[in-house]
Amino acid sequence: MDILGRFQSFIEECEDEDGQLIYMDKIRSMEQQGSRSLHISYNDILRHDPALAEEIRLNPEESITIGEEVLRSMISQISPTYLEKVNLFHIRIHDLTDKVLLRALKTEHLGLLACFEGIVIGVTEAKPLMIRGVFKCAVCGEGNQMVDFPEGIYSPPYQCRNEQCQRKGSLLVQLEKCTFIDWQKITIQEKPEELPPGQLPQSIMIHILDDLVDRARPGDRIEIVGTLKARATRLLKRGTLATYNKFFQGNSIDKEKAEYIDIEISEEDEQKIIDLSKSPLIIQKIRESLAPSIYGHDLVKEAIATLLFGGTAKETPDGMKLRGESNILLIGDPGVGKSQILKFVQRLAPRAIYTTGKGSTAAGLTAAVIRDQDTGEITLEAGALVLADQGIAMVDEFDKMRADDRVAIHEAMEQHTISIAKAGIVATLNARTSILAAANPRRGRWNPYKDPADNLNLPPTLLSRFDLLFVLEDKPHPQEDHEKASHILNIHQSQTLPVEPPIEQELLRKYIAYARREVHPRLSDEARDRLLEYYKELRQVSGKVDEKGPDPIAITPRQLESLVRLSEARAKMRLSDEVTFEDASGAVNLMNATLEKLAKDTETGKLDIDMVSSGISARSRRKLDQIDAVIDRILEQADDEPVAIKDIVDKAVEEGLDKAQVVKAIDEMTRRGVLFEPTTGHVKRP
Ligand code: ADP
Ligand code: MG
Repeated sequence: MDILGRFQSFIEECEDEDGQLIYMDKIRSMEQQGSRSLHISYNDILRHDPALAEEIRLNPEESITIGEEVLRSMISQISPTYLEKVNLFHIRIHDLTDKVLLRALKTEHLGLLACFEGIVIGVTEAKPLMIRGVFKCAVCGEGNQMVDFPEGIYSPPYQCRNEQCQRKGSLLVQLEKCTFIDWQKITIQEKPEELPPGQLPQSIMIHILDDLVDRARPGDRIEIVGTLKARATRLLKRGTLATYNKFFQGNSIDKEKAEYIDIEISEEDEQKIIDLSKSPLIIQKIRESLAPSIYGHDLVKEAIATLLFGGTAKETPDGMKLRGESNILLIGDPGVGKSQILKFVQRLAPRAIYTTGKGSTAAGLTAAVIRDQDTGEITLEAGALVLADQGIAMVDEFDKMRADDRVAIHEAMEQHTISIAKAGIVATLNARTSILAAANPRRGRWNPYKDPADNLNLPPTLLSRFDLLFVLEDKPHPQEDHEKASHILNIHQSQTLPVEPPIEQELLRKYIAYARREVHPRLSDEARDRLLEYYKELRQVSGKVDEKGPDPIAITPRQLESLVRLSEARAKMRLSDEVTFEDASGAVNLMNATLEKLAKDTETGKLDIDMVSSGISARSRRKLDQIDAVIDRILEQADDEPVAIKDIVDKAVEEGLDKAQVVKAIDEMTRRGVLFEPTTGHVKRP
């Protein structure tokens, strides 16, 4: 039997277990669903007619085209009007049993049906592709000369088909009569978890047509079936190297199938994990197993453990989504091991991406619309946070991120989406990512005599989106220096760790994956009370008004939500569904460390969350208010005539204000438009 006959009998006869005709039923419902594609499982073909399956695998283009003819003739019988209306039908093959790895796609696969998984990193805008050209002779006027371009390769007829004319090169395209379909290119990259350690991810270009267009967004994980092809990018000249470019012609896309390869956990592993979790010292053991080659940093390691395990994501009855992931920032002097810690977490965490603030691609951390210099093609490309969706993104040198990212990352960290509207592309991409970031202080080193805000190189709006911030100072300390140096030297000397980590890395990976999958802790009453007490305690000392003005606000609901996530993560580490009093206390400990270091006013010693969230302490804000008032009064006395800046400064200094601060305040007020400068060196109120 020929392929046409085989296809026909496959479609007409293939049944499921209950004896239902799978594909006949599908064809009958196509019109009602407005579908142009018949989706066929390769396994069904294999089961029904192995020879046909093999033919499709070896000669996909030809045999699928024949299949599509069969499909058309069937639709013409079932619903001739639908055939007339749609005209173009596709057969899309799914569920290939033999998948290849993206990086294994080589010449041997050219022209064969292949299937692989990957993550979409870029999509171009959809373009119309001409599949049937209609031409008219400019000399004799004979029109409607039709030519099909089955692969969309433009190949117009050379000679007029009119017997009397037969002129060469006289044909003009009649665009309004041509047939177009949607065409799009997408770029797929290897999944981070499939990437061999230390390798750069590889990617491949996919061409897709018609109803597959716009099915995939950057960040989506997809399984794709199609054919690897080669195409010359330029005219090959005799004597030049005959290299071709490869691309993949996509036949079908499945979004649901290419889920994360979750780490496999055997029954034996599971038993080990459950045994481990019963240890009363489990949290300490986990902490000690993180980056064991890095000495110290206990609190940071404990915080990272909570990040790895994560809290419980929830949805409120009114539809608000509460994230379970936390974000941590390490700010520290150079050479304290920040980058090493990040690299370690990347190796350990099941779904992790390591990047630097500058980003390793043009898309940076979030996403970008990029125009190709040569072709003018517009591509939406996903940045690191989108690729790390549902995982952890390690961002080193966070303070050096691009200006575009600085704007977009706010949304990513709070809403877990990235919206982009540029050059006609409007899209919202998912970025459900925990961020572990490292940054250097403003002048390279942390200055303990300055307010934290002056030490930080990042806008306060960004800082406040981190649940925990740690300052890692490199202060000389005889005892510690000795221990740390011996620790480092021992490792270099013997290449073994001074103390073996309590949980070996492979098991810890499985432990984390297991806990994330199986455990969903909720607050107990005791835990709830503990957090409530802590919150109330800090709020009580906040905002009290005395003769010097209101006291600073020490904590806000944002930190309270962080505390819940941190407590839940601790419960997960114990594989417990209940967040206990101790979990809540542990979370409070971590939070205290952050607040003590970053929200403490160096002058008054009071906690002030505004120093993190707005970059100005209540004390300096009060001072600024005072300066504003003095400047205001001086200007008022001048009856709204311009006053020399020098005079204002002198008068303000007389009143006991700091000269530099006054100059800064005037400068800032002119910039805001509160003051304006009619002549140089003079200001007045507008
Ligand atoms: P950073 O990113 O903070 O500037 P790195 O992570 O690059 O610093 O660390 C510099 C080097 O010093 C690394 O090789 C690291 O292993 C070593 N190092 C720094 N701090 C420690 C520590 N506490 N324990 C062990 N090694 C350390
Ligand atoms: Mg570094």
